[in-house]
Amino acid sequence: MTKPRKVSTIVASAGVAADPVYGGLIPPLFASDTFRWPDSDTRPDYDYSRTVNPNRDMLAAALAELEGAAGGVATNSGQSAALLALLLLPTGSLVVAPHDCYGGTYRLIKGFEEQGRLRSTFIDMLDDEAFDRAMAEDPALLWIETPSNPLLRITDIADRAARAKRAGALVIADNTLPTPCRQRPLALGCDLVMHSTTKALNGHGDLFGGALLAADAGLVEKIQWWANAAGLSASAHDSWQTLRGLRTLPLRVERQEATAQRIAEWLAAQDRVAAVHYPGLSTHPGHELAERQQQGPGFMISFRVKGGDEAAAAFLSGLDLITLASSLGGFATLICKPSTMTHGGMPPKVQKEAGIYPDLLRLSIGLEDADDLIADLARGFGSA
Ligand SMILES: *Cc1c(COP(=O)(O)O)cnc(C)c1O
Repeated sequence: MTKPRKVSTIVASAGVAADPVYGGLIPPLFASDTFRWPDSDTRPDYDYSRTVNPNRDMLAAALAELEGAAGGVATNSGQSAALLALLLLPTGSLVVAPHDCYGGTYRLIKGFEEQGRLRSTFIDMLDDEAFDRAMAEDPALLWIETPSNPLLRITDIADRAARAKRAGALVIADNTLPTPCRQRPLALGCDLVMHSTTKALNGHGDLFGGALLAADAGLVEKIQWWANAAGLSASAHDSWQTLRGLRTLPLRVERQEATAQRIAEWLAAQDRVAAVHYPGLSTHPGHELAERQQQGPGFMISFRVKGGDEAAAAFLSGLDLITLASSLGGFATLICKPSTMTHGGMPPKVQKEAGIYPDLLRLSIGLEDADDLIADLARGFGSA
């Protein structure tokens, strides 16, 4: 066995100087929908781009190496990666998912449940009793998302995955927030890992994409079969561009995380802040587990503004540099109000159970200077 390569080497060398025709340093873009057969009985390696495409394969190979996966598929959005995972399950399967999972995941699973395709149980993943109860109901899939969004609660992946496997379930982790630079769910016992590459992996906010990767080659084949059958695969252009964005991922994550740590500490010292959720703070409930499980606390922070909904609105209107928008992981710092934006589709009762209050704001820290970001946040508190 050769030693696994480091993240920065994987992203800097993926597809480099592999152009078979001219030896171009950068992989060529194979935009063609279809490919010529040598004769009608000899299928070429690439025949039709929905099924297989060189740029998509290059991206999937880089992502699989980053996650230590056997392989997988780059999809046309994060949601199509989630859909692809659910397509692996027989009708009527029980999916156990965190009650504070990504809003789109909640919507998709609930939509399938309303149509009678799947059953679901949304639980507090940190609640041992609730977890054991759910595992006793013969689940087909356990959905893990850690750190959770927006509260950045930390689930013990190795423990939850082992218990779910004993219950006979497949285990998937949505690794969008931590990125493979900071967390490797397959090494901790998960079967599948999914990403919204729209976020940090592309990092430049200019495309939609996703990926579903598997530890086991048999599962990879099933994923590829369904991606082709359902038409969920990423385009050549998006795959090519995502690989370009991916090249700087480790640098971006390191810088975004250093700034996030400073901002979280600054927020924690403000009187107008009621609570700060950031795994890098020693006061964060999952801090020690995050230190063991992750290679860094990440670039996401959430916090509650004192004075409720109105104070939060005034704070937001005072910001100038930081944009009010619902995405994350990119070069530009974004702020959002989960209760009406990213998690607006969750019924108020479910939001409350998940701790998503109207005064909760979520920051995705980008690449701006930390002092300038802090000055902007101070402007916001000046208006609140
Ligand atoms: C954005 C996001 C998704 C969905 O990805 P899209 O690319 O928007 O379809 C899924 N999970 C998490 C954690 C996300 O942040």
